[in-house]
Amino acid sequence: MKKTALRFLQTHTNMTSVIGELAPDLFGERYTNKDDEMLHSLFIETVEQVPIAISITDKKAKILYVNEEFCRVTGYRPEDILGENESILSDKRTPRDAYRDLWRTISAKKIWRGTLCNRHKSGERYLSDLTIAPMLNESGMVTHYIGMHRDITQSYESEKKVINQKLLIESVINSSPIAMVVIDDQDRVILDNHNYKALVSDLDKGEPASYFLKLLRDEMGDLWSQLQSKEQGFNHREFKIESKGNQKVRWFSCAGNWFVENEVNADAFFQNTSKQYLILTLTDITRQRRQMEELHIQTLKTVMSEDERVRGIRETLLGAMHQIQMPMNQIRAAEQILKHKKDDQHAGLLQILQQIQQSGEEAVATMQKCIPEILQTAVIPVNLNQILHEVLLLSNQRIWSNDIEVHWQPMPTLPSILGSENRLRILFKQLIDNAIDSICESNGAEKRIKITTDTDADLIYVGIEDSGSGIPVEKRAKVFEPFYTTRPMGSNQAGMGLVMAKEIVNQHQGFIEIDPDCDCGCRFKISFPLNKQSFKGRV
Ligand code: FAD
Repeated sequence: MKKTALRFLQTHTNMTSVIGELAPDLFGERYTNKDDEMLHSLFIETVEQVPIAISITDKKAKILYVNEEFCRVTGYRPEDILGENESILSDKRTPRDAYRDLWRTISAKKIWRGTLCNRHKSGERYLSDLTIAPMLNESGMVTHYIGMHRDITQSYESEKKVINQKLLIESVINSSPIAMVVIDDQDRVILDNHNYKALVSDLDKGEPASYFLKLLRDEMGDLWSQLQSKEQGFNHREFKIESKGNQKVRWFSCAGNWFVENEVNADAFFQNTSKQYLILTLTDITRQRRQMEELHIQTLKTVMSEDERVRGIRETLLGAMHQIQMPMNQIRAAEQILKHKKDDQHAGLLQILQQIQQSGEEAVATMQKCIPEILQTAVIPVNLNQILHEVLLLSNQRIWSNDIEVHWQPMPTLPSILGSENRLRILFKQLIDNAIDSICESNGAEKRIKITTDTDADLIYVGIEDSGSGIPVEKRAKVFEPFYTTRPMGSNQAGMGLVMAKEIVNQHQGFIEIDPDCDCGCRFKISFPLNKQSFKGRV
């Protein structure tokens, strides 16, 4: 290699002189003449062997010298290219402005750096990462230019591929209907998509990632760190979010996957360090939840209407039995009177009375047999907030059509009671239906139902208050008696609703009363004991 370079330079005397002229600029003047030859050789050898394409030109870019790497990169042999202008390499795709800038810079005695599109001798295009440095003489005038370039086609392609891949990933992520966010090990957001950005303003919870991370960590407890250490993902973690001003309730399903990425900074060059990231996806499932809830309410409506049908039959039969009982009692009394008289004259009448009584008793017995059984349901932990919420949804149509304002004030974290969901639903439905009826009848200016839940150390309290006509003090005890109604005669109220309500409360070992301190409308106060472990079985 050394010999080839020397031979080449010796055969091209002008090249040797060019190099000789440049050597002091590169090595400085501190070398004496006796070192010249050695320095020449060393310099020529260095320039010749350096793995970067080097060319030396005159002021007009006429090529005076090229090294071996230049020949390898461009495909031109020295004899093909010496004496030619550097423009021989131009592919003519490079914008004119780039050349203008190049020349403006180097003419101003400054170094120019940039990328040009060059053409290999074979015609193939390549990208040249070029640096041109002007060489000045003692008077500061440009005498030559040194061009140094590398073929960066491959690295440019790889870089572009990475950028394209990143853009592709970003556009895929952005077009996803799911909010996505990548979080580093310090809980910082590294990458997100449009849907995630929309959540920032929609939810009004600060950084949504931090908000959901807290919910997830609180819910998953130790499981979170276990999954994180094993890089195992999680999914279907559902959360109910009350967004801006408590106006809109939204449901989100969260899924997460941890992944590890090798660090790319200088510190990690020799020590392979890596960092863990979490890709978190947040799917808005509010619509599905609402559909499920509607379906649930529809099912409840069916169950409740079946229950109402059964109750209707029960009430009708019990009412009829109640009605028959009065004349039966009178007949029984008449029979007793006649028996005491021991009078043969009335023997026929006595027999008729006994026959009437017997057929009456048979009728009552037949009716008794016809009374349908109330469906028994299992006792499970029940959240009364959930039951009341469902009952409000069940009564929604009536509430809305009667223009009634509902003040629903549940205690946020209400403990469960043991009971029958269905029976409790019937209880509250009865009380809310009564409240709606009362508001409609009173026809007052204010149409309001207030429902509250609360708890203390022993009891859970439910308050159902209406702005209706109220129940007069003297009638308050009676309303819990069978077949007692404050409604006008002929209404379809049999007066069994509150009897049944009290029965359900009793079955749950609770207590129901009409609040004596309620001065407008009516307020039912119901309390249930907490954690009644003894309460088992079916109601
Ligand atoms: P040109 O007619 O050569 O030049 C285009 C414009 O450049 C002109 O309009 C003018 O404004 C300016 N210009 C040209 N020559 C001069 C001059 N002597 N003084 C002031 N302004 C001038 N080009 C490449 O395409 N690839 C290379 O690898 C490359 N390497 C170079 C290395 C060196 C050391 C130097 C000095 C130049 C190099 N050039 C290279 C630039 C090259 O000389 C041409 O300017 C360029 O290729 C454009 O060629 P052209 O025939 O299209 O236009």
